[in-house]
Amino acid sequence: RIAAVDGEINAFLHVNADEALETAAEVDRLRAAGGAQADALHPLAGVPVAVKDLIVTRGQPTTSGSKMLEGWMSPYDATVVTKIRQAKLPILGKTNLDEFAMGSSTEHSAYGPTRNPWDTSRIPGGSGGGSAAAVAAFEAPLALGTDTGGSIRQPAAVTGTVGTKPTYGSVSRYGAIAMASSLDQIGPAARTVEDAALLHELIAGHDPKDSTSLPEPVPGFGTAAGNHEVAGMRIGVIKQLQGTGYQDAVLARFQESLELLRSAGAQIVEVDCPSFEYALGAYYLIMSSEASSNMARFDGVRYGQRVLPDQPPVTIERVMGATRAAGFGEEVKRRIILGTYALSAGYYDAYYGSAQKIRTLIQRDFEAAFASADVLISPTSPTVAFPLGEKLQDPMAMYLNDIATIPANLAGIPAISVPGGLAEGLPVGVQFLAPARGDAEVYHAGRALE
Ligand code: GLN
Repeated sequence: RIAAVDGEINAFLHVNADEALETAAEVDRLRAAGGAQADALHPLAGVPVAVKDLIVTRGQPTTSGSKMLEGWMSPYDATVVTKIRQAKLPILGKTNLDEFAMGSSTEHSAYGPTRNPWDTSRIPGGSGGGSAAAVAAFEAPLALGTDTGGSIRQPAAVTGTVGTKPTYGSVSRYGAIAMASSLDQIGPAARTVEDAALLHELIAGHDPKDSTSLPEPVPGFGTAAGNHEVAGMRIGVIKQLQGTGYQDAVLARFQESLELLRSAGAQIVEVDCPSFEYALGAYYLIMSSEASSNMARFDGVRYGQRVLPDQPPVTIERVMGATRAAGFGEEVKRRIILGTYALSAGYYDAYYGSAQKIRTLIQRDFEAAFASADVLISPTSPTVAFPLGEKLQDPMAMYLNDIATIPANLAGIPAISVPGGLAEGLPVGVQFLAPARGDAEVYHAGRALE
């Protein structure tokens, strides 16, 4: 399937068919032999997983969509990859992304854009457009993404697939190349809610190698995803995440989803989150501040590329300058500059400090909303997939795609995007959000719309 369609889709940066075929054959052998070893197999054993190319993998390159890491091979596996390989799910390959996960369309990849399988003149969302497109185009049944401001959910929405951002700290970030460490989470991409839940269950759990990892054992999401009963469930519609800026067709599909849930017995209430107005601004300050610091490691000495200056002297500063000038794309540079500025002495309180205060206000808005609702609901993305190139020269228009997904990252809570019908032949996503550690609830609610 990859050989047949990926020339056009460009979801994969690297494919490892050998690992997929060898693991599948091994699982077949174990199943056929029966006995304790066969019984101990994970229910997903043998099912290939495509991995966003900023999650490190032994034996396969990791580029993060950047020229900076071209040809670089990680000496170790990310914890999620270790868990997947131990359960005998092969790593099928590495998927395309906006460089270092900065973007909403996968057009900022140094390796060319990924195309939306529904309409190849349109974007597949971002930054995890490769993972979502691979799943949507039936190139992979399961994939992993990372979600800092929506990079699992928005691609799921615009490709008609399912994607989850887990509770912050519930899935190890060890081996995920950091973009904004207080916001990043690894999560599953799949074609059904239950598939996503099973992969999520497999990758979650405490990891001593991640200092922000939660200590709790993993609850069984698979069971929640099997239950589509929502009678009596209180579902809160977020007043601020609809209206201006949202396409009419997206809002129409959203209303139909609310009707479906109401007719299934859910109680639909409206919740008010007044601080969400400032969420996008706060996110782009906090994210770029953290990203500017995380990007400092790409210095031409430790990883990947090293570019020497044209002219002597060859000092360490000049090697760093030449390497970073050649290795980073425009969007990554924009964020490094923005973040460095926001963190500078004299500006820190005005920008980074204010953004952190807004983050607290957003957390309080969610707390208040969850007092009157079990889960919250909104459109995942304000628009359907837009044409390639449409927003590439306008960073602000690109950033506005994240308006509905960012609040969950700022608050650390779980959220899922599930398909919510088509608008003029293109998929629309519906997002459910639950309180921290309530990941099972987003699967339960998401299942009701399938
Ligand atoms: N689109 C958002 C951004 O550009 C989110 C990125 C992400 O979640 N990795 O920052």
